[in-house]
Amino acid sequence: MAIEFVTTRELTNKAGEVKGKVRIVKLKEQPKALVDYTCPECGFSEKRHELWEEPLVIGEGTKRKFLVRCSKCGNEMRFLKLKKEAKKKKKK
Ligand SMILES: [Zn+2]
Repeated sequence: MAIEFVTTRELTNKAGEVKGKVRIVKLKEQPKALVDYTCPECGFSEKRHELWEEPLVIGEGTKRKFLVRCSKCGNEMRFLKLKKEAKKKKKK
C-alpha cells in the first residue's frame, strides 16, 4: 500500500485554543481517504472514509485545500496544504 498523501494538523477553536486535530491519509490504491479528526469546537472524535474529491479536497497542487465537516456539530474545519509538504513531495 503506497501512501499518496498524508497530513496531520492541529485545529484551533473559535476562541483560538488548540483543542482538536485532524489526520488525512490517502492511499494510492484506494478511492477514499481516511479522515481521523477531533473537532475543536465540540470534542467529537471520528474516523471515517471520504472520497478524495470535493468537498474534502478542493483545488490542485500547492493551492489544494481541505474541508472536513464535524458529523456532530457541523463545524467546518478548513486548512490549506502546507508548503513544507509540497517541498517534501518534490524531493522524492
Ligand atoms: Zn464538532
